[in-house]
Amino acid sequence: MVPAMMLAIESAELTLPRARSSKRAMWRGFTRHCPHCGTGHLFCAFLKVVDTCPHCGEELHHQRADDAPPYFTLFIIAHLVVPSVLVVEWLWHPPLLAQAILWSLVTLALSFALMPSVKGAIVGLQWALRMHGFDLSAARREDMASRT
Ligand SMILES: [Zn+2]
Repeated sequence: MVPAMMLAIESAELTLPRARSSKRAMWRGFTRHCPHCGTGHLFCAFLKVVDTCPHCGEELHHQRADDAPPYFTLFIIAHLVVPSVLVVEWLWHPPLLAQAILWSLVTLALSFALMPSVKGAIVGLQWALRMHGFDLSAARREDMASRT
């Protein structure tokens, strides 16, 4: 019984998915490029992810970044702005109204600048970890490649 099972296991085709580098995929996403090829653009609008990569055809509509990009963006910005506010106050004591206007504008500008990159990094991580159907699209593509 046991040797028969071992024979069945040995003869079965085990196709393990190839490992994906989370670090590389996150960097490609952070630079707003496709996590698979690193060439195609990830966004078709400010925060709208393309359905498929225009360069390699990777399906990217599986991403579910949801609330993670604003959370991590504000987390990063708060760690930059709050110490800056304290240093400026400690060194120069500017009027409170001037600080309120300055730091509000800095926070707003950094949010617009960082949000797409943070979202791209999260999409890249989801792609690397094969979350939310990213594995299904890879399996489908490999299946189509084996048929041709
Ligand atoms: Zn691509």
